[in-house]
Amino acid sequence: MPTALKFAEAMSRIDSSVTDGVCVLRLNAPPVNTLSIELLGELRAAVREANADGRVRGIVITGGPEHFSAGADVAMFRDIKTAEDAVRISRVFQEAFQEIEDSAKPVTAAVAGKMMGGALELAMACHYRVCARGTVFSMPEVNLGINPGAGGTQRLPRLIGVEAALKMLLTGQPINAAEALKLGLVDAVCDAADLTKPAQASGGTPRKTRERSFPNVLFTEAEKLAARARPELIAPSVILECVRTGVVASFDAGLRAEQLGFARCMETLATRNKIHVFFAVRDTAKVPDLANVPTHAVTRVAVIGMGSMGAGIAQAVLQAGLPVVALDENTAALDRGMQRIRESLEKRVKQGRLSPEKLAAILRQLTATSDWKAVGGADFVIEAVFEDIAVKQTVLVNIERAVGDKTVIASNTSTLSFDRLAEAISRPQRLVGLHFFNPAHAMPLVEVIRHKAAAPETVASALRFAKAIRKTPVLVQNREGFLVNRIFLPYVKEAFRMLKEGADPEAIDRAMVEFGFPMGPLTLMDMAGNDIFVHADAVLVPAFPHHGPTPPIVTELVARGMLGQKSGMGIYRYEKGSPVPHPNPAVRQILAESRARSSRAPRVITPEEITQRLVLRMVAEALRVMEEGIVQRESDVDAAMVLGTGFPDWRGGVLKYARDLGLDEVRTQLQQLAKRFGERFAATNLPLNT
Ligand code: NAD
Repeated sequence: MPTALKFAEAMSRIDSSVTDGVCVLRLNAPPVNTLSIELLGELRAAVREANADGRVRGIVITGGPEHFSAGADVAMFRDIKTAEDAVRISRVFQEAFQEIEDSAKPVTAAVAGKMMGGALELAMACHYRVCARGTVFSMPEVNLGINPGAGGTQRLPRLIGVEAALKMLLTGQPINAAEALKLGLVDAVCDAADLTKPAQASGGTPRKTRERSFPNVLFTEAEKLAARARPELIAPSVILECVRTGVVASFDAGLRAEQLGFARCMETLATRNKIHVFFAVRDTAKVPDLANVPTHAVTRVAVIGMGSMGAGIAQAVLQAGLPVVALDENTAALDRGMQRIRESLEKRVKQGRLSPEKLAAILRQLTATSDWKAVGGADFVIEAVFEDIAVKQTVLVNIERAVGDKTVIASNTSTLSFDRLAEAISRPQRLVGLHFFNPAHAMPLVEVIRHKAAAPETVASALRFAKAIRKTPVLVQNREGFLVNRIFLPYVKEAFRMLKEGADPEAIDRAMVEFGFPMGPLTLMDMAGNDIFVHADAVLVPAFPHHGPTPPIVTELVARGMLGQKSGMGIYRYEKGSPVPHPNPAVRQILAESRARSSRAPRVITPEEITQRLVLRMVAEALRVMEEGIVQRESDVDAAMVLGTGFPDWRGGVLKYARDLGLDEVRTQLQQLAKRFGERFAATNLPLNT
């Protein structure tokens, strides 16, 4: 074979073969078959070639047996600088898919895995669709602040009706293979092994999705959904407009609306910030000095302590397909932990997110024990026992005795120093922090804490493990509060301070919901427990004198047993079993007394001041975190605050928000706030590169 040809073949992103009149085009662009402009070009050429080949009666476009394609390459979006760039990219995709739809020979998409966005748009341009059992379909563009730009808003409603299409397009939520079959999105569901059997491609004639009539044109629910979106986020209304244009005007007019809509979305700061967060989250695990450190895949995990965190962690590990030994010395606590895991997984079955067979398989991987010997085979152990240094040190020694030299030992402590924990054991190089967030099975963030004795392989293994259980790990140096609590607790503290100065709890919470948080800081503290706040703040106060003391108002609440939702009373009052907050007269009384004792007269604090103080308090602390080198990069702070606290992604995270405000402006505002309210706002020397 001539070398040039060999080279060309090695570069090909599509494997083509013809058997019994069926041409199978298999996407082969590792690792995940992202749809790049180059891949689209090759696909068009391959379809053209198959049409010209006299042996070919039908064409199948497919990928791997478990994965078709990850959809469009988001990196392309990040590089878009102008409206013309956006329109051009949308048009390239639309034209490529159009050429496939215009094929004179029937084209079948044989797909599997997560069919998201561009991957689904490609499949919808084919004449027939068959999927493997277990395939899920979604149009998640809206979550990135954009509309589908490759015909998705036109073909999806023609296949499944306007109502169901808009539900997928506006929520971004997935549907499974059975639903896809019922709705008419796919023509058949089969075993993965049968995906490219010739029968799939024969018998049909070309059937263009664009020429189909709409099964229904119901807009009512979608209009309500789109109206609920914040004004900064225009994607929902753009999507609605694209679908409507396709219905009332034409398919081609709808495609044009997609191009222009995509350009409009890309021009908004909210969309650019969402894309910033997308990459911030993707980049957290990249740690240059650990890039070439060898790690082993984890095969057996042990979780010690089956309280709320341990059970959640065990569930997360099980859901990722790994076996778990769950140990608790208290058998009643162990039983409660097992029950919690079972109930939580059963809920997923009820929601249709897990099959009963998968549930049974997961539970078979779970071993409950109080016997340390059972931990012996684990190559990764996570302790989540009481937050007490003596208890934890004893547990770490027990773990070390039970496992081999290479086993990584992780602690989920939120407040204890790793230097102190490491003192107790003989292999401190194997110890690492894995700080999960509550509820651990659902929260995507994990802080990986690196202390000075930790070996690079240990830290690299922890990062790899966190990714293996589908979490986003952020590497954090060992310092009080780590990253998220260090930034978030001062924000909550500022809210407590404003209560004393005269603000109503409702006004504080409302301002932050208006800013974009899912709930305000005081409602959140009632959920987490005011006692938890006091406990965690007790660690931050001595470490960071500029934070100031814990506000007396919250210590008083705790002293009176007003811990939050769990005690029926906190800042707000709760009816039994309900999370809905009501004004709490007892708090009004405490506030009145505390304000009366103060030398300053209470004042009404405007929503603008509330927002400025609360958000800039986080910014000020995040700047110190950067200055101290607690994390590698600004975007790690952004990713962690979005995933860990609900900081709105369309504002880009704490430090992207500061950059959008302008660093000079931030400096000026922090100086003014420091003068008025104290050292905690004092600007550092703003280490960020301007
Ligand atoms: P928890 O009190 O609910 O559970 C602790 C469990 O550990 C209990 O079931 C107890 O029986 C078991 N245990 C205690 N001593 C043991 C021993 N010697 N051997 C085996 N098991 C033992 O606590 P939690 O809220 O699940 O927190 C656990 C850890 O996670 C703590 O370090 C905490 O700081 C940390 N954490 C908690 C949160 C949170 O929001 N609750 C968040 C992040 C981290």
